[in-house]
Amino acid sequence: SLTPPPCYSAPVAPHVGKKVVLLTGGAGFIGSHTAQALLRRGDDVVVIDDFNDYYDPAIKRSNVELLKAQAAMSGGMNAPELTVYAGSITDTKLMASIFADHAVSHVCHLAARAGVRPSIDDPLLYVDTNITGTTVLLELARKHGVANFVYASSSSVYGGSKSAYFSEDEDVSNPVSQYAATKKTCELLAHTYSHLYQLPTTGLRFFTVFGERGRPDMAPLMFINKISKGEGIRQFGDGSSSRDYTYVSDIVDGVVRSLDRAYKNEVFNLGKGSGTSLIDFIGTVEKYTGKKANKTILPDQPGDVPYTCASTDKARALLGYSATVSFDEGIRKTVAWYNDANGISSMNELNTKVKVERPARK
Ligand code: NAD
Repeated sequence: SLTPPPCYSAPVAPHVGKKVVLLTGGAGFIGSHTAQALLRRGDDVVVIDDFNDYYDPAIKRSNVELLKAQAAMSGGMNAPELTVYAGSITDTKLMASIFADHAVSHVCHLAARAGVRPSIDDPLLYVDTNITGTTVLLELARKHGVANFVYASSSSVYGGSKSAYFSEDEDVSNPVSQYAATKKTCELLAHTYSHLYQLPTTGLRFFTVFGERGRPDMAPLMFINKISKGEGIRQFGDGSSSRDYTYVSDIVDGVVRSLDRAYKNEVFNLGKGSGTSLIDFIGTVEKYTGKKANKTILPDQPGDVPYTCASTDKARALLGYSATVSFDEGIRKTVAWYNDANGISSMNELNTKVKVERPARK
């Protein structure tokens, strides 16, 4: 069992009995992977998602189909129940009725307007979804006495930081985008609800997440898509900027560990713990797609941070979390999924076919 160092807090008493997890944003990228993991182990899952068109909602609908299949597969004595609501977390009446109709034991709050640049164009939408939406959920969670409230924060809260490794105890009062400011505000609100009502809250600062069914607006999938199709990509800056890219199964592992181990009020970095430069990132995508990138180099964008790298010491000590999938392996798996979803044979398959079809030399 985990013995946290004395400088860290101890977990609160664990929940007894079956978990009923209200999973907001469960039709999205990280949400649908999390839902699969929870259903697989037998938790009841109540999804709320507004299926908005920030990216193609058909992707979110097809994610829900996967969840239905997962729930149907996870049968037996302790069969998990999956319920899906289409609606907004800012709809107080709908949310109150969901809490009234389900014995929600845990909240896993992943719904948000995500993305740094769009938040600069439409700050009110971000404030409404991310701040008002989170407050609606915190209010209901404390009224219904849920055992644990876990929510997605973001590495973007470190925006103005000058250190090489971001650790949870550093000053994050310098957000450099509206998106980052909304995520920092969620952390403040969670603190308030924990303080006033003893609601256990845990914020998870995710570091650029990628993998199967990833967000099409984010660099990993955007680059895989464009490089595969031979379309041009835009490289902002000289390519030396580096990010801590985290493969989605590692993030899901951290989310599930957090749900199972409630703290009074904590935030954790969930990252890989090492950075990959943009140049190496593009090189890895080229390696697995078998295509050369056609790059246009542009200046850095406002709101972008030059590097992100998680210190994962705290998550390791308190949650037993550690990322296990390397960047190379994550990109390999993501490209394989992308090829499968788009009917593209992998380079290895093509090579094998060529070998088989080549006439034998005399
Ligand atoms: P996503 O956009 O795929 O998932 C978010 C989901 O929330 C979507 O399905 C969306 O339809 C839903 N949603 C948005 N507004 C809603 C509303 N008002 N009511 C109900 N549902 C709503 O994004 P994701 O990458 O899976 O992100 C999940 C969470 O993790 C978000 O909170 C995001 O800010 C955070 N995060 C993600 C990353 C990353 O790299 N993907 C990094 C840091 C933080």
